[in-house]
Amino acid sequence: QAKRRRLGFRRYVADHTGDDGNARLTLLGDLRRALDGSGEMTLDYQPKFHMGTGELAGVEALARWQHPIRGKVAPSEFIPVLEATTLIHRFTHQVLTQALTQARAWLESGHRVPVAVNISTRSLLDTGFPGRLAELLSQTGVPGDQLCIEVTEHSIMTDPDIAIETLNRIRELGVHTSVDDYGTGYSSMAYLRQLPLNEIKIDRSFVKDISTDHSSRALVASTTELGHILGLTVVAEGIEDAATLAVLSEIGCDLAQGYHLARPMTAEALTRRLQIHTLLPA
Ligand code: C2E
Ligand code: MG
Ligand code: MG
Ligand code: MG
Repeated sequence: QAKRRRLGFRRYVADHTGDDGNARLTLLGDLRRALDGSGEMTLDYQPKFHMGTGELAGVEALARWQHPIRGKVAPSEFIPVLEATTLIHRFTHQVLTQALTQARAWLESGHRVPVAVNISTRSLLDTGFPGRLAELLSQTGVPGDQLCIEVTEHSIMTDPDIAIETLNRIRELGVHTSVDDYGTGYSSMAYLRQLPLNEIKIDRSFVKDISTDHSSRALVASTTELGHILGLTVVAEGIEDAATLAVLSEIGCDLAQGYHLARPMTAEALTRRLQIHTLLPA
């Protein structure tokens, strides 16, 4: 253990001397350890609310890595490193196991809290993924409809045929599917119509200016309408103020998520808020 720590420190110094190839390798080594039962990798949960009633609609699990030396490392930093190797599969499996175990614990304490999990491109395009997901659901005893799989528009467009096949198999398990960061990729309306989806999440980059910018507002309104025509639940992500929330409510967006409503929090913090019933900001 002490030796590991010293090595970690040497690596830390190496990372800060500007050798990028080395930094990536170092990160990879550290990630391997982090995924090896070290407890460094945890999940926070960010609520999604029904726009009309303010009720909790579910939560999104977001990966958090507490590195022993560097401290918090952002998902945008370590997920691309994992994605470049087969370690991503172990990571996906761990995230799903943790999220489903938590969903099960909430169910057992009488709270129905559907959990959404982000799935990377490689896991989406892995034909063994739906089978392993089925196994995890039965191991944890969580009904499929208490889970939502979020995949980005970019992931789907990497190989639409395989993505559609995988999404179909996921839906056969009763699991819901959502396109994340919608609007940032290049999917055509023709594809959106073919995709086996329950939900679209409009990317924060479109949402953030709607209270001041007419064209952003028009884009979000027409995307919401398109989603509704296709029978999808429409979620707006990244809501940071009351003015943005008001515009989204007028537009008729179904679900709302963002720092203004609730930040990502630990399972314990979320459980405390479930017990005091209201999840709306004071
Ligand atoms: P995402 O799935 O689009 O998640 C939303 C991100 O926006 C999260 O960042 C969240 O903390 C942040 N966010 C939420 N509300 C607001 C807001 O009002 N304002 C702003 N500025 N940001 C907000 P986070 O946790 O850093 O995650 C970043 C991305 O990393 C996620 O984007 C997702 O693509 C990926 N990610 C996170 N956890 C996982 C995971 O377990 N597996 C995979 N494959 N990807 C993950
Ligand atoms: Mg997401
Ligand atoms: Mg998102
Ligand atoms: Mg996003």
